[in-house]
Amino acid sequence: MIRSTKIVATLGPASSDPQMLERMILAGVDVVRLNFSHGTAEDHIRRAELVREVSNKTGRIVGIMADLQGPKIRVGKFREGKVMLASGDRFILDAECKLGDQGHVGLDYPDLPRDVAPGDKLLLDDGRIEFDVVDVAGSRITSVITHGGELSDNKGINRKGGGLSAPALSAKDMEDIKVASQIKCDYLAVSFPKSSADMYMARQLMRTAGGDPLLIAKIERAEAVQEKALGEIMSASDGIMVARGDLAVEIGDASVPALQKRMIRQARELNKLTITATQMMESMISSPIPTRAEVSDVAYAVLDGTDAVMLSAETARGAYPVETVESMVRICIEAEQSQALALDRDFLDRVFTRVDQSIAMAALFTAYHLKVKAIAALTESGSTPLWMSRLNCGVPIYALTSQTSTRNRCTLFRDTYPLIIGYKGHDREELLLEAEHVLVGSGAVQEGDLIVVTIGEPIGKPGGTNTMKIVKVGENRRA
Ligand code: PGA
Ligand code: MN
Repeated sequence: MIRSTKIVATLGPASSDPQMLERMILAGVDVVRLNFSHGTAEDHIRRAELVREVSNKTGRIVGIMADLQGPKIRVGKFREGKVMLASGDRFILDAECKLGDQGHVGLDYPDLPRDVAPGDKLLLDDGRIEFDVVDVAGSRITSVITHGGELSDNKGINRKGGGLSAPALSAKDMEDIKVASQIKCDYLAVSFPKSSADMYMARQLMRTAGGDPLLIAKIERAEAVQEKALGEIMSASDGIMVARGDLAVEIGDASVPALQKRMIRQARELNKLTITATQMMESMISSPIPTRAEVSDVAYAVLDGTDAVMLSAETARGAYPVETVESMVRICIEAEQSQALALDRDFLDRVFTRVDQSIAMAALFTAYHLKVKAIAALTESGSTPLWMSRLNCGVPIYALTSQTSTRNRCTLFRDTYPLIIGYKGHDREELLLEAEHVLVGSGAVQEGDLIVVTIGEPIGKPGGTNTMKIVKVGENRRA
């Protein structure tokens, strides 16, 4: 059963041994996420090597996404590791406190007292604990606890409404970018960008480090969802992550579902990728089956048109990583099949002026109307399949490329399946025969199937796709 929506799985202690990783990849993981908020550089390097090994062994192509920690502001450590906070009590966040207790705790961002004022609401541990700021003096923020609970070492702090000044790329992120480049990650996710400038800076740092991954902006700050900022961030990136964990804390949980829908639509219109993330299968951290609400959440993200759905703690430290991936696969496939296609209508809003993009759209339209078995995009950079995958035509797109990096970066595109083609010559007919050979060999098509092929001519000369051809598989060989 062919699945359109891609699955991103975060790696962690529960998913780092070779057998487990292999089972997860065979179950359907398309992209692994290395979360730089946890673990050492060595952990990430080792996991990346393992992923490439398992991918080679199984023949399943898997992309690697490095996810930077970003300027998440955290409390310091407690003498006992944690405290129980009661609603109504006073509590002090103090940049100069070394070890916390019942009354106060340290901060890893000494400038926080400058950013907050009496009347602000602070949310800790993804919103589980809430403080009202009543006084700020020097390094100390005094608050009244409005929602108590257990607070443990290094939990995150957000301000309701956003607006904290910490820059998007920390000193640690800059070091981690070097590691991500060494790993040759296919995607780099930037946490908490406020503006397009943060994305340009990340791209610059990555280029300097020698890497060229696709850049994913994690939308998780109140500033980033303002209409102007959001459009600019998308334009400066290759894709976005709907990072619902921090986003819900900053803008309120009830605002997230509508925003998810709107952001996915807007990103697709701008030819950008989308990942829907956080708590999708949260209960499966400790349960072998998902809740009804989680099943619906994953299905609605698919219907919203997301390229990928993401797993975090479920696969990083959960008890059922393989079962979680299997459940997601099931839900995605069924949601996709329930979806009505309306390519003719979707086309009315599209404007395209480039030659390669026009060919991509022509191929999509033709494939849809002729009900062909597959689209074969012979591509160097992956941009043709990216354009094709922005609209839903119900025909699988095979990205045939000789470039390993292009192959790996197509793993996140909805409806797109990368395949490697070995042919290095300049003869058009030989290249087409090789493409058919690879498609038949992978089981994508059979002799006699009709396919739509896109190609850039002359062959071997870098430049864009400019040709579309309708081919009956096997016919050229018989002639
Ligand atoms: P995180 O990002 O898991 O790195 O916090 C995702 C989110 O905030 O939803
Ligand atoms: Mn986050």
